[in-house]
Amino acid sequence: MSPKIAIIGAGIAGLACAEALSASGAHVRLFDKGRGPGGRLSTRRVSTEIGEASFDHGAQYFTARDALFARHVEDWSRAGIVARWPEAGADAWVGVPGMNALPRHLAQQLDIAQGAFVRGMARKADGWHLLLEGSTAGPFDHVVVALPAEQAASLLGLSDLAMARAAVRCPSEPCWAGMFAFPEPLAGPPILRDRGPIAWAARNSAKPGRQGPEAWIVHASPAWSRAHLENPADAVAAALLEALAQAVGTALPPPLSCVAHRWRYARSGDAGTGFLWNEQLGLGACGDWLGGPRVEQAWLSGHQLGGAIAAAAFSTDSRVGAAAR
Ligand SMILES: Cc1cc2nc3c(=O)[nH]c(=O)nc-3n(C[C@H](O)[C@H](O)[C@H](O)COP(=O)(O)OP(=O)(O)OC[C@H]3O[C@@H](n4cnc5c(N)ncnc54)[C@H](O)[C@@H]3O)c2cc1C
Repeated sequence: MSPKIAIIGAGIAGLACAEALSASGAHVRLFDKGRGPGGRLSTRRVSTEIGEASFDHGAQYFTARDALFARHVEDWSRAGIVARWPEAGADAWVGVPGMNALPRHLAQQLDIAQGAFVRGMARKADGWHLLLEGSTAGPFDHVVVALPAEQAASLLGLSDLAMARAAVRCPSEPCWAGMFAFPEPLAGPPILRDRGPIAWAARNSAKPGRQGPEAWIVHASPAWSRAHLENPADAVAAALLEALAQAVGTALPPPLSCVAHRWRYARSGDAGTGFLWNEQLGLGACGDWLGGPRVEQAWLSGHQLGGAIAAAAFSTDSRVGAAAR
């Protein structure tokens, strides 16, 4: 009988894991607290008086250096889901028309419960059960935790102390993201790097396939973001708009939209193990923190864990494909 597997987190790692497991015939259900799939690979749309502005406020672009990932990226490119963005680098890719096009594409064939915040999980005699807000789900044969390290640690703590410790040892850096729309184009290049509090600023509307008003995304540096972590979003947006004006070197037109989003867990560490899999418990973990702070590493982590679980679950010799720990 096909194993039933729950994946907590429908970011790129959870989606890649689900795709690999579904391809092997497993029954997979994802649970994500957000309104849509993608996590930090996301696009926000904001109404303005001259039309809808769109902002990739998490990952700006992704690389495809690994041969397996590069083959998938070529397939997505042929399907019009992703395109190159040469301004950011020779190996830079973006989703089209927004970064969230890729997770949406991957999510199409998957069973995902959105708005499903997982508070806890427990292994009972009949399998794994998830504790959601106001309900439970289960039993499942296996559970995968596909969350940023800090959030993974709090769920893993009661089940596998070694996994939880690995996550605790991999703290993330925060990032404040400012999103600004203007009635006319700003002067200068489409990408600015390392200007005072700004680590990265880019004309979002210069990416391939984007429509709508002139839209800029500004990412504050980790140090600035940490120092202003608990500040109100309005004050942060105003400060980042001022920093953008300084970086561009001219007065900016009055913005049509000026908002900020706080990524508490933006840039992961790198535990260096790729993924974690405790075959005895039927418990796995994947995500960027296991392979490096990039979309590519998050996808590889999920894909590899999915392959390892499938090998263990469908093998007559249950030791095959065991722990990468
Ligand atoms: C500001 C910023 C800029 C970045 N720039 C780049 C870049 O230019 N290039 C690049 O390659 N990478 C970049 N990254 C990193 C990249 O976005 C991540 O490495 C990658 O998206 C991580 O994917 P993930 O699936 O591991 O985690 P996530 O995308 O964080 O997915 C985790 C999911 O779990 C869900 N979740 C969390 N807790 C729970 C819970 N208790 N119950 C249910 N669901 C839960 C969340 O809603 C989320 O959807 C950037 C990230 C940020 C934030």
